[in-house]
Amino acid sequence: MAGKLKLATVWLGGCSGCHMSLLDLDTWLIDLAALADLVYSPIADQKHFPDGVDLSLVEGAVANEEHLALAQEVRHKSRVLVAMGDCAVTGNVTALRNQLGAPDRLLQQIYVEHGDARGVLPAAPGIIPRLLDRVVPLHAVVPVDHYLPGCPPAAPQIRALLKALLSGAPPPAGGRFG
Ligand code: SF4
Repeated sequence: MAGKLKLATVWLGGCSGCHMSLLDLDTWLIDLAALADLVYSPIADQKHFPDGVDLSLVEGAVANEEHLALAQEVRHKSRVLVAMGDCAVTGNVTALRNQLGAPDRLLQQIYVEHGDARGVLPAAPGIIPRLLDRVVPLHAVVPVDHYLPGCPPAAPQIRALLKALLSGAPPPAGGRFG
């Protein structure tokens, strides 16, 4: 890659710890700003994912229909896609609920059988996205170009990945950084 590029960061089913690790890059973020424009991110205020993104870092697993739709859009509009952190790479913490059964049954138990006196499910079509039957890692729904494991990946690992990809260096074997 050469010149000033379009960089995006995406927050799916994760705790935001991977983004906090990204912010731990501190003053190197100033160097990064000279190399790339941040065109979409939870730490910015863009409402829609733009076209023609060069590099997208995705935190979190795919846990609901909104995540699935965003992951597909991000893949479609990004030249290079990175699964950032163990939740995106393997499902990790977010996928723990897979062991507890179907989400409809879980919601029934939590909100109706063992919930408050109202016993009401949090149903707001179009506002609260429907949970997928299973939480899955990013590569289960879209092709991923590189993997950055860690919970969270350390800031120096994120910097190494960004430096390599923004400079056009060949990726390590297997696409794994860190
Ligand atoms: Fe949070 Fe760890 Fe998942 Fe990153 S990989 S979103 S730090 S739980």
